[in-house]
Amino acid sequence: MNRREAIKLGAASVVAAAAATSMTGCNNAEAKPAGGACATKKVGGKVLGKHQIVVIGGGFGGLTVASNLKKKDSNFDVLVIEKNDTFMSCPVSNTYLGKLEGMNIGKFIFDYNQPVEKYGYGMLKAEVLDIDREAKEIHTSHGIVQYEILVLSPGIAYDYEGQFPTWSKEKIAHVSRVAPGALIPGSEHVALERNLKNMEDGNVIITVPSGKFRCPPAPFERACMIAAYMKKEDIAGKVIILNPSNAIAKGAAFKEAWSELYGDMIEHIDFATITDVDSKTKTVSYTQKVSTGKKDPDTGDFIMTPVEKTQKYEVLNLIPNNKANPVVTMADLEVTSDSFHKVLMNGCSFQTKTDKDVYAVGDVVGHAIPPSGQTANWAGIQCANEIAHRLHGKPYSLPVEKTPVAAGNVCYSMVGDQPEEGIMVTHDFSWTGAVIKGAGHVPKAPDGKFRSKATAKALHDWYRGIMGDLFS
Ligand SMILES: Cc1cc2nc3c(=O)[nH]c(=O)nc-3n(C[C@H](O)[C@H](O)[C@H](O)COP(=O)(O)OP(=O)(O)OC[C@H]3O[C@@H](n4cnc5c(N)ncnc54)[C@H](O)[C@@H]3O)c2cc1C
Repeated sequence: MNRREAIKLGAASVVAAAAATSMTGCNNAEAKPAGGACATKKVGGKVLGKHQIVVIGGGFGGLTVASNLKKKDSNFDVLVIEKNDTFMSCPVSNTYLGKLEGMNIGKFIFDYNQPVEKYGYGMLKAEVLDIDREAKEIHTSHGIVQYEILVLSPGIAYDYEGQFPTWSKEKIAHVSRVAPGALIPGSEHVALERNLKNMEDGNVIITVPSGKFRCPPAPFERACMIAAYMKKEDIAGKVIILNPSNAIAKGAAFKEAWSELYGDMIEHIDFATITDVDSKTKTVSYTQKVSTGKKDPDTGDFIMTPVEKTQKYEVLNLIPNNKANPVVTMADLEVTSDSFHKVLMNGCSFQTKTDKDVYAVGDVVGHAIPPSGQTANWAGIQCANEIAHRLHGKPYSLPVEKTPVAAGNVCYSMVGDQPEEGIMVTHDFSWTGAVIKGAGHVPKAPDGKFRSKATAKALHDWYRGIMGDLFS
């Protein structure tokens, strides 16, 4: 793009921003009441307006719901509430850490003006602070938004407090700054990339969360991309993965890539639970369960014993345990009993079990489907369809004759650079049980290897396609 085109694009963004504001039409807020006139009522704070459908979260799930509702019926009054000024993509961001050709930060950051202009939904840049389901009100940092139907797609939060109960607030804040998790959109990926750019020879440690977490292959893909970067930059050291279990998403495919592309440069340590971090000495403490060599007479399994260990690092990517974003707690919905607290759903629907006027999509959904951007996109389309049927007074159910849906989720991971090579997992979704389920499959390329150049190309094509759908 030349300078003239860049200026034109900048001007278009300003026009789009202005259009977004005038479309919503109210003073101080981007919220427009369903009837078109600005609300003047003030109950427990400034009421910004009432909307037919309010979506919390302008990420993969939320934006898909909003655009698909407007595609179904342009008269639907849809408002998205999002706290961040810009959209940052987590999918494919590990290639940015690996400094793959052309994968600079500009490939991952998008502005919200373009989709607001294209699809015609409203956008309120505000943080949701509380939800009153009885009054059907959302309390935000800018005021109160009222809704008829609410859709939640707020993504995840980190559970530092649960994982490190002895750490002070200050220590948590410090560690999250110096060893960012880079699993949540925002500036964490930039901070991690800076740490890698500034690193001396030495090891990079990646810690894997325990329990359910966003994009289970992400830490293992990241190990490949950081190792590729270190090789390219001639940085002597290893990438050490501390995994609290022995589970590795797409495990056989990653292990093949680790050994064949990186030799002993990637070390995966299983049953290793991180217990502390000393950022001054750059040391991680962890407990590793090792086999005693003796078998349990009842189960026949080897008896494991915990051993305390330490490991020095040059760069630490501490990925904390995940939990559902606090917006779920604010909505006071029934959730799963595990530590993640996914939202319980109304059967194979995207309506919540607790409240027929509250829907959920994305990583917080309690269906047995993987937490991915592709799944959030798939769920967003189903959810919009379900709501549109309801508002048009038509019955709706997922078409049983079409189950399973082949490749409801396709998740790619880049494992190699120069040449780029990728691996993938597909999930077929079915909804004949109590919840929507996904059955995974990791295919091999025709040459018998899991990784291929064709899959690396498919990764780029998928990314271009989904971002184009959301933003251009
Ligand atoms: C490194 C990495 C690689 C990945 N790779 C892939 C991949 O290759 N393919 C794939 O399909 N998926 C991938 N994913 C997973 C994907 O990013 C998530 O599954 C997806 O983003 C989930 O969508 P969501 O809508 O639930 O959450 P998000 O996309 O995170 O959106 C949630 C939004 O809600 C907003 N929000 C949160 N709280 C509030 C609040 N209180 N007020 C207002 N707004 C709020 C957030 O700012 C955010 O914009 C990857 C993830 C990571 C971390």
